Amino acid sequence: MTFKLTMFPASEGDCLLLSWGAEHARRHALTDLGRKGDYKALRPTFAALGGIELLTITHIDADHIEGAVPMFAETAPPFTPRQTWFNAYYQLGLANERLQVAARETLGAAQAEKVSAGLVAFRWPWNASFASGVVSVDSAEAAKPIALAGGLTLQILSPTDSKLAKLIPKWDAELAKANLRTTDPEAVEAALAEGREALGGESLNVDALAKKPFVIDRAEANGSAIAFLAQYGDRSVLMGADAHPDVLEASLRALGASEETPLKIDCFKLPHHGSKSNLSPKLLSIIDCTRFAISTSGARFNHPDPESIARILKNDPTRQKELIFNFRQERTEIWDDPKLMEKYKYTCTFPEQEGAAVEIQL
Ligand SMILES: [Zn+2]
Repeated sequence: MTFKLTMFPASEGDCLLLSWGAEHARRHALTDLGRKGDYKALRPTFAALGGIELLTITHIDADHIEGAVPMFAETAPPFTPRQTWFNAYYQLGLANERLQVAARETLGAAQAEKVSAGLVAFRWPWNASFASGVVSVDSAEAAKPIALAGGLTLQILSPTDSKLAKLIPKWDAELAKANLRTTDPEAVEAALAEGREALGGESLNVDALAKKPFVIDRAEANGSAIAFLAQYGDRSVLMGADAHPDVLEASLRALGASEETPLKIDCFKLPHHGSKSNLSPKLLSIIDCTRFAISTSGARFNHPDPESIARILKNDPTRQKELIFNFRQERTEIWDDPKLMEKYKYTCTFPEQEGAAVEIQL
């Protein structure tokens, strides 16, 4: 029985496919669609999947959502997912209302609006696993793993209602800049209701890098990212999206992870493309994992940060670790150094050729 994570080359962003089950009954869940050009290049691959259980658009940053825009402009998209998870403006408002009054954001993204309008137009079941329509740790359904067909379960780790609400003012500002309005809330509400019904090199100084103080990511859009622990049989993968490390840490602790009893994970797709602000030493200290997947071409944001890799290596100095990159680029190639690999006990995995996807057997 296969359980596999495929990291497609998706510019500086994410386009990730989980596949599980027997060969004749293979099932798939797709997370993010990279940028526009990535979607176009990967479209035949998507069309060949023959159906997907779940499409997750983790959050509204262009390197995750832009690829969805051309798809929603098509008359016949490459797939019809059985479920779609995406927190749009409407869900931010719901999350905000659900917060304690005192903690509410004072009310207050163009691509996300196109995706919202697309979801309404395509009538894909939208956030249908959640009675509130909000994919959030604070939705009641997130208390336990959510089952997809064929035996995969997903435990929601991010975002929280408060992180979603924090995005509202940013979203408003982006819309104002683009001179756009949010998708008609009544249409979104109707689509959500319908979905519910439809469902059933030079040596790096690893020690110095690892010692650099940790400064946490505060970008609102990343805080709103949907991250989950996908489980199939006794195997699991943490799909970190661009989530904030404090949220991931709190969610994992709620599942029983601690420094004394770290949670066993077969692969960790690092949050935010291996940014130093999204992989805290504390988060690493409560998981038991030796395989780390990093999705980015390094464009625009120069990810991954060497600090993140150094933290991984120093966190678990005795066991053999694997770093899996979906691009051979300046920022990943530097780790492909035999001396470092021997000293810090790790191997590097790259795509077999430029532009190829990386498949990780879980
Ligand atoms: Zn990103």
